Amino acid sequence: MKKFIAVLVSALMMISFAACSSDNKNTDNNSTSTEPTTVSTDKLEWSDYKVYNLDNDSKVNNIILMIGDGMGENIIKATEIVKGDKLVMSGLKNKTHVTTYSQSVTEGEAKFTDSAASATAISTGKKTYNGYIGVDKDGKKLETITEYAQKCGMKTGLVDRHYVPHATPAGMVAHNDFRGAYRAILSEMVQSDVNVMLGGGSQYYTGSIQEKAEKNGYKYVSSEKELLDLTNKNEKVLGMFAYDNMKNPELAPSLVTETSKALELLENDKGFFLMVEGSNIDVSEAELDMEDTIKQVQAFDQTVDYVMNWAESHPGTLVIVTADHETGGVKIPKNATAEDINDHCFTSGGDHTNTNVLLMADGAKSAGICKDKLIDNTDIAKYMRKVLKYKLK
Ligand SMILES: [Zn+2]
Repeated sequence: MKKFIAVLVSALMMISFAACSSDNKNTDNNSTSTEPTTVSTDKLEWSDYKVYNLDNDSKVNNIILMIGDGMGENIIKATEIVKGDKLVMSGLKNKTHVTTYSQSVTEGEAKFTDSAASATAISTGKKTYNGYIGVDKDGKKLETITEYAQKCGMKTGLVDRHYVPHATPAGMVAHNDFRGAYRAILSEMVQSDVNVMLGGGSQYYTGSIQEKAEKNGYKYVSSEKELLDLTNKNEKVLGMFAYDNMKNPELAPSLVTETSKALELLENDKGFFLMVEGSNIDVSEAELDMEDTIKQVQAFDQTVDYVMNWAESHPGTLVIVTADHETGGVKIPKNATAEDINDHCFTSGGDHTNTNVLLMADGAKSAGICKDKLIDNTDIAKYMRKVLKYKLK
């Protein structure tokens, strides 16, 4: 009975938060009000296709880097077939393709990159071996994008749907030659001064990690309510919501909720770097579960919609949407209808592939990153540094 009441209460909360979200959607967040403006959109729904009108000419003050884990071009197309319309991400004004191979692929040790080597390339501009986080092939520490952004005087944030110290967010901050060393990676992350870190993996928040986080001034939250109640933009936040990878929506706030709160906390005159990962696209693809994969892409696109709407009212924001690699070897039958988008479309047995991925960009200086038809994932790191360089003292 207790459980039933808890579910009922949380369902009622979701309804009231969802009602707030439509009010907030068109609100300009420029105000310095301490009132929470975050939405909670636990209800998964299609975001209507819309082309946003972002300022494309200003200097870059904020970068929002959105990574769909394993989100190859064909899973985007497959999702559009199921939706019956374009995704919001397809309306971003500039597009290019990206090579994702890692050092392990170059040396013939692997057929494709893993998320760790790809995150490291996107963050540091250097190729490394699969499994390596923020270190080069010799194990030497590389400068991550959050370290660079901090040097530029910017705030930094990471939002994901897997463990906070999982490969993609870890690659933006930490240095370790073993991606599975979650405790060691998290320990480094809580000493990194990244302002906002939200994701799963609360089982790692114990003992010395908790002590280090507290000593370093992190406010720890582990429920949606605690997250939504945060208003102090000067406080560093570590949110770890679910025991596992947050696929179960009852255990965690949604990606759009996490992202909207991160934007609210990070917004400041000196700018910020925020990485948002749609982590479970890859998880569902690896399980050869098309129905759930489509839901994960839908949730990611819902978040792209929120970010684009936010960026439209915040000139100087560069939005980049891409993937770390393709997963599943997704193939779409000719003239496919929604019924043809099913588990049979996966052809790689759930493995990653070496297929190039899409990069879509809009907002400040977004044309520059797409001026060539094909770039490498290391070019993303180089471009972000190029457009932020003017901030270096
Ligand atoms: Zn990945």
